[in-house]
Amino acid sequence: MAKKIVSDLAVAGKRVLLRVDFNVPMKDGAISNDNRIVAALPTVRYLLENGARVIAFSHLGKVKTLEDRQTKSLKAVAARLAELLGQPVKFVAATRGAELEAAVDQLRDGEILLFENTRFEAGETKNADELGAYWASLGDLFVNDAFGTAHREHASNVGIAKQLETAAGFLMAREIQYIGGVVDAPQRPLVAILGGAKVSDKIGVIESLIDRADKILIGGGMMFTFLKAQGKSIGQSLLEADKVDLAKSLLAKAAERGAEIILPVDVVLTKQFDNAAASRLASIDDIAADEMGLDIGPATVALFKAALEGAKTVVWNGPMGVFEMPNFAVGTIGVCQAIAELKDCQTIIGGGDSAAAAIDLGFAEQFSHVSTGGGASLEYLEGKVLPGIAAIDDIGE
Ligand code: ADP
Ligand code: MG
Repeated sequence: MAKKIVSDLAVAGKRVLLRVDFNVPMKDGAISNDNRIVAALPTVRYLLENGARVIAFSHLGKVKTLEDRQTKSLKAVAARLAELLGQPVKFVAATRGAELEAAVDQLRDGEILLFENTRFEAGETKNADELGAYWASLGDLFVNDAFGTAHREHASNVGIAKQLETAAGFLMAREIQYIGGVVDAPQRPLVAILGGAKVSDKIGVIESLIDRADKILIGGGMMFTFLKAQGKSIGQSLLEADKVDLAKSLLAKAAERGAEIILPVDVVLTKQFDNAAASRLASIDDIAADEMGLDIGPATVALFKAALEGAKTVVWNGPMGVFEMPNFAVGTIGVCQAIAELKDCQTIIGGGDSAAAAIDLGFAEQFSHVSTGGGASLEYLEGKVLPGIAAIDDIGE
């Protein structure tokens, strides 16, 4: 069922509640990276240009102590949003009460306010009915553009949605289109690429993709647990000894389902977890007891490139090596390059570090979609129903 998006709503003259993801990294009271604010601009601008009165809100970090109430204010975010929009953003330093209600009443068409961190309310993460109903009472319509919290059932996404006509913002709509597309009805062949640190973090994702993908390419730290399951010596490489049996059963399950799993054939080895340490390229059968693999080698990149040929959908989670160190980023770059060359193919990369790798290595534009949702991206790929998305109205509702 297709979900309503913001452009399906009649927003002119309406008070539109807008849940955004302004959970930006802060350092000493300043915003250290404003990507998330920039990412929300298309939805914010659309609403303002179409004459909505926008009441925006977000959480920022975890709020547990009294000190968190000082350091996790959205005030600086309001100022940065105003700069980016080129118009004033009224900041209301409250999450409820007379000041907020008066500010909402004073909003004119095409104006925006941002209220304080939703997690200053204890009821937010409990999805307290009273809180969702109160926030809903401030608006006429609800737009949810906060994909990063879609896997949580909170008052500011699910609670409000129960009360009002609700649509996805443009960012959320892209996540539904691309990741939802992989999960529900992928164009085939679907090739999944899995890497990153641990098998244990990704069991749900691997199982989901075994059911859905035609081929699964495995690199990153997790490859060693699979190689161990095949009886190979992996030296000091990252191993989850208690997951070797699981890896064996996943390999068997894939064979049963007709999903082809492709494992690396060569590896970049070193004796120290250090960019400057001496390294050597070796066959996967030639890892010494004192060596660890920190990247896939060129023969593996070529093997993966060949496996990607003709794919109609590619979904990637988890870097192929320790991409944070330039000497071990080569495999991840090689796979990015192979993806950039694909024609007529939907290419999706998701996961916190994976999205960071695509962006930092300069390949973000080469993907059809970079999903920045972190935990939400992974749970969505696992095939789980995300409460924040489920709460958005279907078209015709
Ligand atoms: P995501 O956040 O995209 O889900 P993960 O958190 O699972 O991805 O994995 C990212 C981390 O995996 C990176 O910090 C990277 O350095 C690490 N990694 C990748 N390959 C290896 C390897 N061979 N050995 C150790 N760590 C690795
Ligand atoms: Mg990570």
